Amino acid sequence: MTVYLVGAGPGDPGLMTRRSLELIASAGAILYDRLIPPGALDGARPDADLRYVGKQPGGHSMQQDEINALLVELARSHELVVRLKGGDPFVFGRGGEEAQALAEAGVAFEVVPGVTAGVAAPAYAGIPVTHRDDASAVAFVTGHEDPEKPESALDWPALAAFPGTLVLYMGVRNLAGIAERLIENGRAAGEPAAVVERGTLPGQRTVSGTLGDIARRVADAGLRPPAITLVGPVARLRDKLEWLERRPLFGRTVVVTRARAQASGLAARLGALGAQVVEAPAIRIEPRPADVVDPVVARIGEYALVVLTSPNGAALLRESLERSDLDARSLAGATVAAIGPGTAAELRRGGIKPDVLPPRSIAESLVEALADVPVEGRRVLVARASEARDVLPDALRERGAEVEVLPLYDTVAEPLGEPLGEADYVTFTSSSTVRFFLEAASIPNGARIVSIGPVTSETARAVGLEVNVEAEKHDIDGLVDALLADAAR
Ligand code: SAH
Repeated sequence: MTVYLVGAGPGDPGLMTRRSLELIASAGAILYDRLIPPGALDGARPDADLRYVGKQPGGHSMQQDEINALLVELARSHELVVRLKGGDPFVFGRGGEEAQALAEAGVAFEVVPGVTAGVAAPAYAGIPVTHRDDASAVAFVTGHEDPEKPESALDWPALAAFPGTLVLYMGVRNLAGIAERLIENGRAAGEPAAVVERGTLPGQRTVSGTLGDIARRVADAGLRPPAITLVGPVARLRDKLEWLERRPLFGRTVVVTRARAQASGLAARLGALGAQVVEAPAIRIEPRPADVVDPVVARIGEYALVVLTSPNGAALLRESLERSDLDARSLAGATVAAIGPGTAAELRRGGIKPDVLPPRSIAESLVEALADVPVEGRRVLVARASEARDVLPDALRERGAEVEVLPLYDTVAEPLGEPLGEADYVTFTSSSTVRFFLEAASIPNGARIVSIGPVTSETARAVGLEVNVEAEKHDIDGLVDALLADAAR
């Protein structure tokens, strides 16, 4: 009934607006183009009718009037239709034409602006499109037209004389002709210029120069569309304001092998530091059925000591308590022990502060830390993965404890979708990620191996890997710190 013309931003998924994500999540049908951010449709309804209307690999693209007709048709059969476009829908996106077609057909529509590439790509390259001293105006110009065409719709003399920054979309292929036209019409050949390829996306590249030499520099560097061309004194500011390339992991590719559900935190941290992150989730966490877990958790107050050994376990314990309508108070009488700061953090989310947190995130260290906790003749619950080492239960039994192990989840192999390309680092956050990853793939040539701690390293060495970096603090922060230190070598 309503069609939303939605801008998806220039490519970085983080630049999608909140409104765009809400609409994608509720749309019954989505028509999308090629230049939308990776993963932009991840939040779509499973039953949504997704239609790609961009260019086909062979070069054929759907005609605009076909797209318009499809929009009108889908609006008749769906409550909410999203027309998703790269950048902003009304900036060189033909969104205006689509809105006209909808208006003519009497279909209700709304427009959701997006971050346009002409502002975002320069920003990520360290170039402000306006500046108090250098540019008090900015023009968005299409560079799509062949400037040699006599009937060019562009007024070259006016553009050359424009008192501010020129931002050219779709112009890389015609760059030489465009630069020539501007110079012919009076723009100084020495004026700063820059071209930003794949702005805000992994692998963004920028070439700087002057109007006179930018076309040659761009050709030498092999820049290709999509790219934004800037002409104006602001282009020079990049020398001082370039920030993307200065991030500590810029240019490094890092493989994250965690289960998909857990990977995003680590992937986001690495991405924010400038790394290109490849998610290769070799494992998946499969929670044990509630009817097996919940009866034990419901009686958790009967245990003198409760031990959680992983963040997954802690999260599943919380969920089980919630299912039984219980909360942290069930553990009021128990001593709670946790392995690893990540596990402790996950417990705290449920209002449970662990009493015992060993200095090193391994079972042996917890055994030592529990030396002063009386366990003889007492009931102890070890809640953990179904497959794990028995160091802890064995040690506690030896001290006379009555130990029960509650398996909260299974770790199962997840086949990898596509082969891994080159990488600088492969990160392992547990022994199971090591084992399952090697079943699914091999370590890319020359990649350095980063392990979260000694147990994971041990497993890696046992299967013949050389561990190059081991975290000192055995959690995600510690792993990221260790990787950063190694990258700065
Ligand atoms: N509606 C879009 C523009 C669509 S026209 C917007 O508002 O951004 C397509 C052109 O946009 C490309 O040829 C290129 O010039 C530019 N563009 C889109 N995404 C880009 C990106 N990530 N980096 C650089 N330029 C991009």
